[in-house]
Amino acid sequence: MAVGAVELVRNGKPKASIVAPSEGPPSYAAEVLLNYVERMSGAKLPFVPEDQTVKGTKVVIRVRKGAAKLDGFRIRTSKDTVVVEASIPRGCVYGAYALLEEIGCRFYGPEPLGVVIPKKKTISVRDGLDILKEPAFENRLPSFGGPELNACWGFNFTGHSRNQKRQELIKRIGLKTWRWGHIWPEIVERQFFPDGRPPEKMDYSDKQDWLPADEKGTRRYNGETLCFSNPDTFKWFVENAVNWVLTNCPDADYISMWSADTATLALCQCEKCQAKGWSPTDWYLHIHNEIWRLLKVRGFKGVFGWIAYHGSEEPPQQVKLLEFGRDMDLLYAPRPRGASMHGPITNEHSVNVAYRENIQGWRKYLGNFKGTRTVFEYYFDLVLLGHLPAGRTFLIPKPEGMKEEMRFYLAQGFNGFFDCDPPSVFFPDPLLKWLYRKLLWDVNLDIEAAKRDFFQNYYGPAARIVREVRDEVEKLMFEEIKWPMWSPAHYADRPIKRLRELEAKLDEAIEKVGDDEILKQRIRVMKLWVHYCALAKESEYHIKITREGKKGREVELSIRKLFEENRDFLVKTGLLTEGDVRFLAESVVNYNLTIYFGGR
Ligand SMILES: [Zn+2]
Repeated sequence: MAVGAVELVRNGKPKASIVAPSEGPPSYAAEVLLNYVERMSGAKLPFVPEDQTVKGTKVVIRVRKGAAKLDGFRIRTSKDTVVVEASIPRGCVYGAYALLEEIGCRFYGPEPLGVVIPKKKTISVRDGLDILKEPAFENRLPSFGGPELNACWGFNFTGHSRNQKRQELIKRIGLKTWRWGHIWPEIVERQFFPDGRPPEKMDYSDKQDWLPADEKGTRRYNGETLCFSNPDTFKWFVENAVNWVLTNCPDADYISMWSADTATLALCQCEKCQAKGWSPTDWYLHIHNEIWRLLKVRGFKGVFGWIAYHGSEEPPQQVKLLEFGRDMDLLYAPRPRGASMHGPITNEHSVNVAYRENIQGWRKYLGNFKGTRTVFEYYFDLVLLGHLPAGRTFLIPKPEGMKEEMRFYLAQGFNGFFDCDPPSVFFPDPLLKWLYRKLLWDVNLDIEAAKRDFFQNYYGPAARIVREVRDEVEKLMFEEIKWPMWSPAHYADRPIKRLRELEAKLDEAIEKVGDDEILKQRIRVMKLWVHYCALAKESEYHIKITREGKKGREVELSIRKLFEENRDFLVKTGLLTEGDVRFLAESVVNYNLTIYFGGR
């Protein structure tokens, strides 16, 4: 035991109590702590409700106003006491996980492979400890995972649920809930009711004047919009949107309603609509203002947001926000799909310059804005990046790029962040997604130090070899396969050949870890990934250099085989789901076959 350290467990026997309120997030935090201490040491620490006195060593979990900003936390040790405190209850949960990290646990990704739980018979917290952590982004929204994982990974939101058990769990952890999506088409298609009974298909047969007119003036149902200059239509649409909320998520903390997923809003072209001279975003926010006004009248307490996205990405020219956007959220997502290939939006690529100009337009529009701003990103999104070798192997974006972008967004006044990344896989390991989550809390993160922490804990005695391999693979995956033909061996064959060699090097790493099954599996996943990287690179070689459709096709089919043959193993690691494996084996391969190699 270190001098002055606070002992929690000695020789497998409990030496401290956990003191916390018996309800709410601090009690959940205590449960998290008890659970992992037992998994580490076998010792069950006693839980003592905060209103009872306790002698001896203790871990106190409590809410104290001013302990930390937002839902941050502070951990301090003095004599025989460890205090985990936060200004708001949820912060205690993040504090409990941070204390577990302090005593050696790591929560990089999903169990079993993503979590590190060291076996220790004696556990102590060092004396003089004083950790203060406050999140860089106030709102951190996850794109996957349930409430427990979301809290473990430092998010403060989780998806809204109508399941009562889940609602209770969310409340106990203290998370906020969100619900959003392309909801306009649903509202156009069906009639919703304020009492929450099932919606009915909307009948427009006697309401032809409600339907949007095309450029020739013909009114017809398009499933996306209506003739909003018609007061009856407008009133019905707003009511129906409010009823949608009352039916689906009246108690959500944050709702964002979007139009159809199209590049341009199919607005009505009738004379009256045209006479307004409004842009699609003017119409969108005009309608949203009214929905928001009525939602408040009906008692909705959450935040109501809109998205700046494709058809609604230019700031309005005429319509102003209701009450300067109080309790509203701008969800900012106009990044052109696939733009991640150009590196961080802070560089001088024309796409990124246009994007930054658009942000400045919104900043100007939101001069007196009283609401919040959330980034909607597409990091690691294979729907967008599956055609790029570095994208399909989950290397885009690089952590240094994310760091630069997050700092940029914070400087622009954004205080929320969301990442849409289907499929949400942790392949070959949780490193990059873990760094993303760390950055949401700390945009000054020392990425190199964090990587060292990761490799040491995740790969143990094989850390050095695996890191060397992973670093080199990353370089090779980003290396451009170039013309000229006079030396294809140099420009194309070389990286593919080298990737194959690196795969073999991981056998050495497996030798190093002895009988540790978990470490062996982690390296086996890495080995599969390196093999996949070589194939992705080979596919690129046929696309760019040889243009041999038949050979490229064979490569794509062997990628499919690789995932199909290893499906059970990969799913068991917890790093990919069945659906993720299917996405990689089918959707991405089919996409590349279709675009480059003559069809599926
Ligand atoms: Zn119209």
